[in-house]
Amino acid sequence: MAAFSVLAFRQVARNARKRQQPSTKKASPFLPRAAIRYAGAHAGESVVDFGKGNRRQFRAAVVRALEQGWAVTRLRDLFREEFKFSPDRALNVAQRELCIARSRGNLADAAERGGKQKRWSVAGDNQSCASCEANQSIGWIDLAAKFPGGEDCPPAISCDWCRCDLDFR
Ligand SMILES: [Zn+2]
Repeated sequence: MAAFSVLAFRQVARNARKRQQPSTKKASPFLPRAAIRYAGAHAGESVVDFGKGNRRQFRAAVVRALEQGWAVTRLRDLFREEFKFSPDRALNVAQRELCIARSRGNLADAAERGGKQKRWSVAGDNQSCASCEANQSIGWIDLAAKFPGGEDCPPAISCDWCRCDLDFR
């Protein structure tokens, strides 16, 4: 029992050390409130067809997903069940809307806080497309500048499964 406790303590200490190590990838923490604020005003702006729902319901769904930290698949399921989107469309729209709200919300927040530069950050799972990789490869650029693909921020124009993010400084 005592041995177990020591092991458990060591594991906790190890995890704590891991958390304390500065990340080389994320220069600024993810700010859900900025994404929520953006989604509350803009979610669904690029969506033409809301199926069985409407823009107001769509916006409320994206805000709820961000407030409660839903996985993209949970928002997909809501779009399938309540809006009657097809499975593929439900997933693509859910991913895209969460990506837009996070990056646009954080970009606006960074500008308000006096941020100077941004950096494209691909999801670390080796599944990123060439255009997202190209946007990341140029490193830090001015907050108002565009990335090589022509975007201010994720999602990449030519990527239909963009899970990229922005870092700021
Ligand atoms: Zn991407």
